[in-house]
Amino acid sequence: MIKTESIQIQCPQCGETEFEQPDNVQDDDFVKCNHCKFEMMLAELKEVGIEQAKEVIIPEAKKEIENMLKKAFKGFK
Ligand SMILES: [Zn+2]
Repeated sequence: MIKTESIQIQCPQCGETEFEQPDNVQDDDFVKCNHCKFEMMLAELKEVGIEQAKEVIIPEAKKEIENMLKKAFKGFK
């Protein structure tokens, strides 16, 4: 399983998160989706993962900030 930080990378074709990969996989090695057999370079897969992570992290970060603001404003009542 390839991970960026704590977010799983999904196959851009089918959404699978398990990939076949060589031992000590490098950025210019190809990894293959376990489900649809889509192949891409690890470097490309990482790019995809970063984009996917942004989509997940941004809404979560917004929620955190909203909660912090709510707490901060409570003190002003
Ligand atoms: Zn796939």
